[in-house]
Formats: sequence, C-alpha cells, structure tokens
Amino acid sequence: MRIGIIGLGLIGGSLGLDLRRLGHEVWGVSRQTQTCDLALERGVADRVSLDLASLAEAEIVMLCTPLDALESTVRDLVPYLSPETLLTDVGSVKGAVVETIEPLWANFLGGHPMAGTSDQGIGAALPSLFAGAPYVLTPTPRTPVGAVERLHCLVESLGAQPIVCSPADHDRAVAWISHLPVMISSTLIGSCADEPTDRVRDLAQSLASSGFRDTSRVGGGNPELGTLMARYNRQALLDCARAYRDRLDGLISLIDSENWAAITAQLESTREARPQYLK
Ligand code: NAP
Repeated sequence: MRIGIIGLGLIGGSLGLDLRRLGHEVWGVSRQTQTCDLALERGVADRVSLDLASLAEAEIVMLCTPLDALESTVRDLVPYLSPETLLTDVGSVKGAVVETIEPLWANFLGGHPMAGTSDQGIGAALPSLFAGAPYVLTPTPRTPVGAVERLHCLVESLGAQPIVCSPADHDRAVAWISHLPVMISSTLIGSCADEPTDRVRDLAQSLASSGFRDTSRVGGGNPELGTLMARYNRQALLDCARAYRDRLDGLISLIDSENWAAITAQLESTREARPQYLK
C-alpha cells in the first residue's frame, strides 16, 4: 500500500520504519528539510516532501503531528486527497480530535498506539515500537464501513493489539492510566521541591532511589505533551483528578484518625488490583 505519514517524529518515524519493513511504500511529509533528510537517512520513508500535495495518491494517510497541529494539517491536506483515502491519526486524545476531523474528512478513523518513549523527534524513532502494545481504534456511527477492518489489519501487521472502543471511553480510560498519573507524578515532584527546609530537601534528594524513580518518571517528562493531554482531555482529566483528590482526602482522614486497619485493607485491595492493569 502507499501510506503517507505527516509528522516524522517518534511515532511517525517509528511507524515508517515498520511499515517499510512490511513492504509498504511510505511517503513522509515534514515541515523541515533537515527532518526530511534524516527520514531518508534512517529509512523511515521511501520519499519525503515538505508539501502535503505529495500525498495526493496515498491510500492511507497517518497524521502524526502534535495534537494542536492536527486540525490545521487536515484543513491544508484535504483539498489534495481523493475520497477513497483513509485518514487516521495517532493522537493520545480521541474525543476532541475525532469531533474536529470527522466533519473535515468523512473517511476518517481515530487511532492511538499505546507505545512511546520519553524522547522526541525523528532521532527517537525505533523499529518494532508497537509490537505487543495496544493500539486503540475509535470509530463513531459516522465512520465508513470498511475503515475499521482496514486499519485493524494494518495494526495487527505491526504486531500491535487492536482495541476498538468509543472516543469517550478511550479518553476516560487514558485519563486514569496515562494523563492523571502524569499530573500526580508532577505534583509529587513539585511538593518535594516545596519542602521549606533546605537541609531536608537536600537530604531527600540524596536519599531518593528506585521508589522515587518509579513514581516521578512520568511527571518528569515532556512538558508540552503533558499540557496538550490536559488541554485536549480536559473534562475526563478533571473528573478523574477530583475522584483521586477525594480518595487522597479519605486516606489523610484515615491516617489522621490512626485507623491503621482501614489503611491496611486499602493497601491490600490496591495490591490485588494493580496486576490487572499490568497484564
Ligand atoms: P514528536 O516526536 O515531537 O513528533 C512530532 C513531529 O511532528 C515532529 O517531529 C515535527 O516534525 C512535526 N510537527 C511538530 N509540530 C508540528 C506542527 N505544528 N505542524 C506540523 N508538524 C509538526 O512527537 P510524537 O511523540 O511522535 O507525538 C506525535 C503524536 O503522537 C501526538 O499527537 C501524540 O499525542 C501521539 N502519541 C505520542 C506518544 C508518545 O509517547 N510520545 C504515544 C502515542 C501517541 P517537523 O518539525 O520536522 O515538522
């Protein structure tokens, strides 16, 4: 198949590497000549361009730009496409993206590969990044028949595990397991940094080890990505953050009232629940 990729960064570049390996012809589009040169050098695409018109004959186009560039990219792209071209995106939020793109291009199906690293740009692209990872597809009643089947097959060929759900369910679920953890982790780092006694803060920094490394990892990631998650998944994130705050308040009350049995019961139930999220 002829597959266009717009935005040759971590996700777009990694898709290009795998899709070429699978025998597809990959046409990349980027904003910068330097990215285009690197894409060719790294084998991410068969041909590259700065011009969206170069994708006129693509059968599938995958939008891999940051979330806030998707709408303008689609508006600039659609005059060149034929109605058969299937458009998809890889954005980590689906409700707002699907709502914006669907009216601009009928042959659209939202997607989100649940894989990544903390690095960015074409240099971060990795082969087999999606192998074994869930890849969410979010059709709506307006999604054309056949689009889900086509992308389902493509996703499976990458070694990823396709999961089909509604945009709203996706956004609520990723708010719990991805977007809220970023905010909580960032809040933890910020609270530690607020320690008023310099001596204690310095000591905490010297003592921090694997536990702090695990709990602070996602809060120490790319600030632009974190802000885009909050901006585009605002309502689901707010709902989950409030539910989390209620739980934290409950825990504070238990500690305050020295209800050690209730705390043990809570820790036992969370120890039991955790493996269900890390199958
Ligand atoms: P990235 O490494 O920064 O790559 C994005 C690429 O898009 C850049 O290399 C850039 O290339 C291009 N770009 C940046 N701003 C643009 C703009 N305003 N207009 C057009 N192109 C622009 O980011 P990424 O991590 O691959 O993320 C891309 C998408 O994947 C996002 O929508 C994100 O939500 C989603 N996603 C990310 C992850 C993750 O873990 N990182 C996981 C799943 C999904 P040029 O500067 O050369 O144009």
